[in-house]
Amino acid sequence: MTEATLPVIEDCDGCSACCNRTPIPPFQPGEEAALNVPDELLTPIRERIASDQHFDLLPCVWLQKDQGLCRHYEFRPQACRDFEPGSMLCRLSREDEGIRRP
Ligand code: SF4
Ligand code: SF4
Repeated sequence: MTEATLPVIEDCDGCSACCNRTPIPPFQPGEEAALNVPDELLTPIRERIASDQHFDLLPCVWLQKDQGLCRHYEFRPQACRDFEPGSMLCRLSREDEGIRRP
């Protein structure tokens, strides 16, 4: 079965699988400054990097886990904006998190 023939995932409600495996917001160099991200929002990112856990498959430090929402959605990186619900990477993230394919 190819990606094109798989059923469409309507939205991200109740999922957050991709954020669950992205330990820090995936900013490109300099992107935080370009987006004017307040310095205090970068503190948990720096702490995770300092703890050497920024390559581990952990929930993003900006993820509000109980609601499955990004705490700082307006400042999220471009990579998060571009991540397409229903894409193959989305489906793989969901599968890794034990969410059955629709
Ligand atoms: S894994 Fe896909 S459906 Fe789930 S939150 Fe990410 S983009 Fe949305
Ligand atoms: S959308 Fe927010 S919580 Fe999810 S990976 Fe991006 S920055 Fe982290």
